Amino acid sequence: MKDPQPAAETSADLKVRCDACPVACWIRPGLSGACDRYANRDGELIRVDPHVILERTLDNGGRVVPFNQRKSEWAGEIVPEEELFVTAIGAGTTYPDYKPAPFIVSSQVDGVDMVTVVTEGIFSYCGVKVKVDTDRFLGPEQATVRAQGEAVGHVTTGEYGSQMLSLGGVHHLTGGSKKEGRVTCEALLDLSNGKPVELTIDDGSTIIVEAGKAPIINGVPEERMRVGCGSATIGIFAKQWFGKVDEVVVVDDHITGVLSEHASGKVLGIAPTGIKMRGRRSTPGRYFQVADPGTGWGGTSITDPLSILDPFDKTVARPGMTLFMVSTTGEHAAYFVLDENLKPVETEMPEVLRASTERIKENCEPALCTVLFIAGAGGSLRAGVTENPVRLTRSVKDTLTRVTCGGAPVYVWPGGGITFMVDVTRLPANAFGYVPTPALVAPIEFTLKLDDYAALGGHMDHVRRLGTLGDHDSNLVPPVEGNVWPYAAEGPSWGRGRS
Ligand code: SF4
Repeated sequence: MKDPQPAAETSADLKVRCDACPVACWIRPGLSGACDRYANRDGELIRVDPHVILERTLDNGGRVVPFNQRKSEWAGEIVPEEELFVTAIGAGTTYPDYKPAPFIVSSQVDGVDMVTVVTEGIFSYCGVKVKVDTDRFLGPEQATVRAQGEAVGHVTTGEYGSQMLSLGGVHHLTGGSKKEGRVTCEALLDLSNGKPVELTIDDGSTIIVEAGKAPIINGVPEERMRVGCGSATIGIFAKQWFGKVDEVVVVDDHITGVLSEHASGKVLGIAPTGIKMRGRRSTPGRYFQVADPGTGWGGTSITDPLSILDPFDKTVARPGMTLFMVSTTGEHAAYFVLDENLKPVETEMPEVLRASTERIKENCEPALCTVLFIAGAGGSLRAGVTENPVRLTRSVKDTLTRVTCGGAPVYVWPGGGITFMVDVTRLPANAFGYVPTPALVAPIEFTLKLDDYAALGGHMDHVRRLGTLGDHDSNLVPPVEGNVWPYAAEGPSWGRGRS
């Protein structure tokens, strides 16, 4: 059977016109179109990359397998159908949307007739959410994030040990200059395909983001995610410090902790030390805004920890008292003894506190960048699945239809539409593409019982058996390690009585 590639007009000089997206390229023989996804091979329009079919029983041998690296070609050999999953990677796109999706494939899974509808969706409404594990100041909330000087997103909330960035979205892709749209598309594509991207943040840092790798902030690779905020660090280690030092300050941009005043210190019976902190006292032993945010101690701007202290209370403090100051990652630590004027003097750190610093470091997880691709599949793309699109949306909400992205599990947002998010490291590498409209191209699969597909108005006359796919350019690739198999029992209750 011929692959369901887009219809193509052919000119007298053998140029073919691709109609897989609104750009409608005329492609000369031997060349590819503007997106490099389609090419003209001897006057025939072909999808350049092989179509990826996951085979569960193949040995993985590595966590992520680039889909253009052939594990094996498939010529339709007999493999149990439940061990094969047809992804949308390399499947192609149909345009305009009322045409059926490129592949609508039926198979039997545990005795139940299933169908998987796959397409490489073109997403103008898409972006990535990036979680950067760091305490360092990347930039003010709402600051513009740039790639190649163009605005591609903004800084959003700081989370527990991480800074979130929101990149892309329809406004950057389509609402700014042509260059802004092109650069945004390029940055999203690279991030989604697991490549490093350098970003600069207005009034902030320069950062290199790469999914699954440590962020590089102002040229310095981040090593650790903090063990907790300053208050939490006090809570975790208070008992281990008790009796070994008189006072501990855990320096943190958000919540700096002070042992003697903190609930943990009170419960342990630690005596007041007369310490006086700068910043705004929240609750006992917890201080906000002790310094400006920055790339110094605990995500503050300070390089001298004593700069966040006022003079000790003379009526409480006494010469010889000891003070341990440490950051939330253990990256910075110092030990002081009060002199006769109650001034802290840095002194060599006792071994027991050195070990405590190492314990803090040991409890920090490696700092990583996480990239989640987010896109809206609740629009016209649904017409390639069914003639009555809202039924697909309802079917997804009712968990009768499972949505996957390149075979990877996705999170579908509650509420209207089919807005999904996927961890890009869960897909085979280079699974994303683009078209110069500009928009991202992402694989998306809808899997449901064949009966349910018929009931929701599916394109039943385009359903083909899985076994017929062996005669087109497809690759058998192992699933990404750790992914739930798309037919696994969790999720939709196929074959267990639901109709
Ligand atoms: S950009 Fe790609 S998909 Fe769009 S018409 Fe050109 S070759 Fe086809």
